[in-house]
Amino acid sequence: MVKSISILGCTGSIGRQTIAVAEHIGMPVAALTANSRIDMLEEQVRRLKPKFVAVYDEKAAAQFKTNIADLDVKVGSGMEGLIEAATMDGTDCVVTAVSGAVGLRPTLAAIDEKKRIALANKETLVCAGEIVMKRAEEKGAEIIPVDSEHSAIFQCLMGREKGELRRILLTGSGGPFRGRPVAELEDVTPQQAVAHPNWSMGAKISVDSATMMNKGLEFIEAMHLFGVTPDDIQVVIHPQSIIHSMVELIDGTVIAQLGVPDMGLPIQLALTYPERKPSMFERLDFFSMKDMTFEAPDYKKLPCLKLAIDCARTGGTAPCVMSAANEVAVHMFLKNQLGYNRIYEAAAGAVEHVGVIQGADLDTIIAADEAARRYVRESYAK
Ligand code: NDP
Ligand code: MG
Repeated sequence: MVKSISILGCTGSIGRQTIAVAEHIGMPVAALTANSRIDMLEEQVRRLKPKFVAVYDEKAAAQFKTNIADLDVKVGSGMEGLIEAATMDGTDCVVTAVSGAVGLRPTLAAIDEKKRIALANKETLVCAGEIVMKRAEEKGAEIIPVDSEHSAIFQCLMGREKGELRRILLTGSGGPFRGRPVAELEDVTPQQAVAHPNWSMGAKISVDSATMMNKGLEFIEAMHLFGVTPDDIQVVIHPQSIIHSMVELIDGTVIAQLGVPDMGLPIQLALTYPERKPSMFERLDFFSMKDMTFEAPDYKKLPCLKLAIDCARTGGTAPCVMSAANEVAVHMFLKNQLGYNRIYEAAAGAVEHVGVIQGADLDTIIAADEAARRYVRESYAK
């Protein structure tokens, strides 16, 4: 179990749940970072008393410094601030709960300092999976997944040899529009798209769950985390979200991880691993459970999932470009600037337009990410 943590993105959905878990298990918080919500951050800082706080946005950071002038806490800003929070002495685990590619550099910096990474931020592995996994192996830094599916797979594989795995069964609920044809979804509103049937999450990832781009991003992450190829992963639609993913072993045995759909559980395990601690979450009640059903994904109805798997096969900067374009498109959709079905078009269009570079270094990846964002902003601006 780690001794103290830094939370990057403490004001977000995962960040707030991490704080709740840390308070429950008595885990000290050494550093917090946010971007814009400085009132919530101030309340967190006064309660948790971290040694260091970073506010990414420079203006907000200046205001935050004034607001907490009475406290003895160091305040940083920008990328430098995020990196300091991720690498400082006195923290041995970094929870990467920021959204977007901004999580990439601080994660690599933390790996260099051999900190444990409790990985929530999807872009880290989607954009730079090869670089990040290679660096973690070289430095001997642990990457413990926070995303519920990857935590499930990680738990199913605990204590097993790599050669025992036949394939990963990556489950997904199918989101609020499960089974609906693309043509019927033309007029979907942000409100309808964020209303996830089982999970309570931030707005961006909720839209990704509706389009199932989220499952596509998870597919790419799983390849990197567990060192498998696209052919070794099967997406399984499981609307009840009770099984959080499974592994099939070479002898045909299937091992599943089950639990209530609450991100607090995988967050807690990422902090306490290899130990387990009593948690504050509801227990699974098999007698009130109605049923567990499973369906094959219909890729014609799920163009974003199909695109992500195609990009996973293409490799290079394709997943990064797709993910960055999707992120911008989803934010435009949430602001009613873009129709729901245009999200797919924007992501696919960016991969076409920006192109794919194989074997890219970090700077090339970040440039590809920026080119994809620019493409969507310029092509889809109203
Ligand atoms: P939220 O949007 O709720 O929170 C994002 C956090 O990152 C906030 O603290 C925000 O600060 C901060 N942030 C945003 N932009 C920047 C920036 N440019 N620089 C620095 N900090 C920034 O996201 P979620 O908690 O939903 O998700 C976080 C990550 O975890 C994502 O990558 C997501 O895909 C992944 N994830 C989320 C799950 C979930 O259940 N929500 C499940 C699995 C993975 P501020 O609030 O101050 O603006
Ligand atoms: Mg997930």
